[in-house]
Amino acid sequence: MKIGILTIGNELMNGRTADTNSSFIAREINLQGWQVEIMMSVGDDFATIKSRLHYLLTFADAVICTGGLGPTADDITTAAIAQAFDLPLYTDQAVLQGIKDKFTKYNLRWVENNAKQALFPQGAEVIANPVGTAAGFVLPVADKLVFVIPGVPSETHRMLPEGVIPILHRHFPQPVEHAIKQTIKTFGLSEAAVDERLAEVNFNTLGVSVGFYPVFPENHLVLIARSDSREKAQKNLQKAQDEVTARLHDCIFSYGEQTLEEIIAAALTEKKLTIAVAESCTGGLIANRLTDVSGSSIYFERGLTTYSNAAKISMLGVPAEIIEKHGAVSEETARLMAEGVRKLAGTSLGLSSTGIAGPTGGTKEKPVGTVYVALADVNQTVCRHHAFRWDRKRNKQVSTETALMMLKNYLQEK
Ligand code: AMP
Ligand code: MG
Repeated sequence: MKIGILTIGNELMNGRTADTNSSFIAREINLQGWQVEIMMSVGDDFATIKSRLHYLLTFADAVICTGGLGPTADDITTAAIAQAFDLPLYTDQAVLQGIKDKFTKYNLRWVENNAKQALFPQGAEVIANPVGTAAGFVLPVADKLVFVIPGVPSETHRMLPEGVIPILHRHFPQPVEHAIKQTIKTFGLSEAAVDERLAEVNFNTLGVSVGFYPVFPENHLVLIARSDSREKAQKNLQKAQDEVTARLHDCIFSYGEQTLEEIIAAALTEKKLTIAVAESCTGGLIANRLTDVSGSSIYFERGLTTYSNAAKISMLGVPAEIIEKHGAVSEETARLMAEGVRKLAGTSLGLSSTGIAGPTGGTKEKPVGTVYVALADVNQTVCRHHAFRWDRKRNKQVSTETALMMLKNYLQEK
């Protein structure tokens, strides 16, 4: 089945709001095994909405519209859609009463404008909104369907799976198909490099589709296996996952939705290890990520942002001569920072970062993006040098991810 998406709102046209509804809807539709044939965005304008909707219906069996269902005069989607098919509007008494009840409950003054949100084109079926006042609707047009739901993303996120998709299944019954999804999260390769490594794998013959989702600095892969039997889909998904693992194992950190910090949290907790962090170029981001996990106080003892040389010397005990001789951005300093914070905090592990985030501060020997991360335990300290090539913010993010990957690999090998 072919789906069209029409997002409506002046805020999309002038760039104040990014159209995240389209990508959300497309993802959900693809998960059902349906195809998005066409997507379009338009402003809050009668003629444009009408003509573009007719245009989309020449390609799609169903069009899902979002936006323009508010109570104010600029929200005209319902009226425009009624006009598009020469339909009068009717008031749904139950919806009207529901809106009035909300006004009473929250002690708001009733303004007649709000009755507009209870108007629907003749023949439309109301789609309830469990999280807001604007109800949506579905309008059958010949053998096709036009859906309208509010533009507010939190409302779209509820009403699409709960209201729209069940109606699509009812109206366009299809042979039972089982779709199983697996997310694989990687770090350390560009999207193009991941693609190249997977070039030889024939996912098609396995009935598996592969999606790439870069979430800087990570690259996520989503495998979806489809089959008429659940067991077959499961088997094919496993085969596809094995192929991916064989080619990307050094970069994979998660099978599923778990974040890197969640995996580290589980490993530290299981192994009963504690950690302290001394950060320079990452400015506290490593500590931030490690404490994003609920229960982090079990393993996270402290994080110091030792940005200046003075802080590295006085707080971590890095000898001034070392910084003078090798520089604050050096393997020697990184090692001593990790060892220093570990001793200071009395933890099992110490993790450190020092580098040049840029855009200023680079030299010929140590260009912008030069970063050292070090990890110390009671027996040894390992340090890695990296050369990144991003802007300041991304250099900080990628340095953080690198330090966390180093920690994760250490924990997995231990
Ligand atoms: P509306 O339903 O047109 O009143 O939209 C309400 C709010 O939802 C807008 O002010 C936007 O912030 C947001 N919004 C509308 N359309 C979209 C969209 N396609 N993607 C993301 N946000 C949207
Ligand atoms: Mg709007």
